[in-house]
Amino acid sequence: MNPLKLLEDLVVEHGSAKIQKTHIDFLKDQITVLQCCVSQLESTNSTLRERLRKSEADKPPSHDLNFKEGLCWREGDDSPFCPGCYDGTRKAVRLTKQQPPWDEFGDFLCPICKQHFNKG
Ligand SMILES: [Zn+2]
Repeated sequence: MNPLKLLEDLVVEHGSAKIQKTHIDFLKDQITVLQCCVSQLESTNSTLRERLRKSEADKPPSHDLNFKEGLCWREGDDSPFCPGCYDGTRKAVRLTKQQPPWDEFGDFLCPICKQHFNKG
């Protein structure tokens, strides 16, 4: 039962002078219960806010890379990024252009996951 609705009903039905002590005690109990609920909700809210803050802080930044010719590219940037690292961790890892004779396994090397890539 909603304690405020009960109080309103009692006041309307009997007038404030006729409200019985049992009703007042019931309302006090209900308010105590509500205060306890508010306290628990505040605690839960605080815990969840902290969890959300940590989650946001841990989230890797998004770089909006485009996948093209087997590699990832950023608009206006002519050097490619590693598609494996970007798909796995959302980190933009710039590939290293391989010069002869190191280009035997691919034109580019990812310095993080050590995968070789060819353009196209
Ligand atoms: Zn990589």
